[in-house]
Amino acid sequence: AIVRPTPESDAELAFEGALRPKSLAEFVGQAKVRAQLQLLLEAARIQNRTPDHILLAGPPGLGKTTLAMIVAQESGRPLRMSSGPAIQHAGDLAAVLSSLVPGEILFIDEIHRMARSAEEMLYLAMEDFRIDIMVGKGAGATSIPLDLAPFTLVGATTRSGMLPNPLRDRFGFTAHLEFYSEPELEQVLSRAALLLDLPIDRAALAEIAGRCRGTPRIANRLLRRVRDYALVHGDEAGLGAVQAALELYDVDQLGLDRLDRAVMEIILTRFDGGPVGLNTLAVSVGEEAETIESVVEPFLVRIGLITRTPRGRVATRLAWRHFGLSQSNGALF
Ligand code: ADP
Repeated sequence: AIVRPTPESDAELAFEGALRPKSLAEFVGQAKVRAQLQLLLEAARIQNRTPDHILLAGPPGLGKTTLAMIVAQESGRPLRMSSGPAIQHAGDLAAVLSSLVPGEILFIDEIHRMARSAEEMLYLAMEDFRIDIMVGKGAGATSIPLDLAPFTLVGATTRSGMLPNPLRDRFGFTAHLEFYSEPELEQVLSRAALLLDLPIDRAALAEIAGRCRGTPRIANRLLRRVRDYALVHGDEAGLGAVQAALELYDVDQLGLDRLDRAVMEIILTRFDGGPVGLNTLAVSVGEEAETIESVVEPFLVRIGLITRTPRGRVATRLAWRHFGLSQSNGALF
């Protein structure tokens, strides 16, 4: 699974669950996507049919799982959760699909990681609520058609470009989630602080909002570290506690974490600003190319530290400045 290199303990997951907005109205930001989803759900309700299949695309931590849960909640339908890596054979998918109750919402996280054979089964299931089950092997093999209960597929992916076209085309609606603005992140944080019963001032919230990679999940995690810090030091959760806690956890002024910085260091110092190809970059930092491309890069591009060119990734002038380097000297890391 693509996760940031932060351990996700059970406590972290429980904490995430507790902070998840339960309705579209509570969901902060992504105004366009919210309005689009609302319309889609309302139309289905009026016609008394299952909502169209929905694809949610965007980097981790921007709210894809949360939105899937909200879709189920708002349409009053049960939710089944699965993920691409858990579907390694067509049979895995057949088992899930054939056990759905009418109108159920099926969430498949990381849908781009599903097995190819399952993908093909899914095409027919999405289109006709039907699958063909193969029985037997070789010359005696036959396929038995099986009708499914109507369902709505909500797929999530960090890489919509990786989905084969026939699969992408079968989603009635694709939502591209964007990184959040600082005011939106402040809203996410003040809501979380309220739920955590943590008194925290505006300046402290603004500081976290500016250093969480535009990502609600990271914002909430940083808030938790700040809470720890204030607790242990008998301090209040103010600007000082935020700065100290973020320094302790190696989060810099722009919110870059270790992996972001490792990538920038390679581009700037080892390749003199680039261009560097994705695979070279991945090997150099010891990460999967997929993680670099879907997790690290979108944010570095968004804040203007790198650009993508046909020949590879190139550091911008802002990057040289942020790291206090000039071309061909290196070594400040
Ligand atoms: P993804 O599935 O895209 O990786 P999640 O839906 O799991 O992301 O969201 C991660 C965490 O961030 C959740 O615990 C949720 O509380 C929080 N979160 C995400 N989006 C929002 C939002 N728009 N408003 C408030 N909290 C959010």
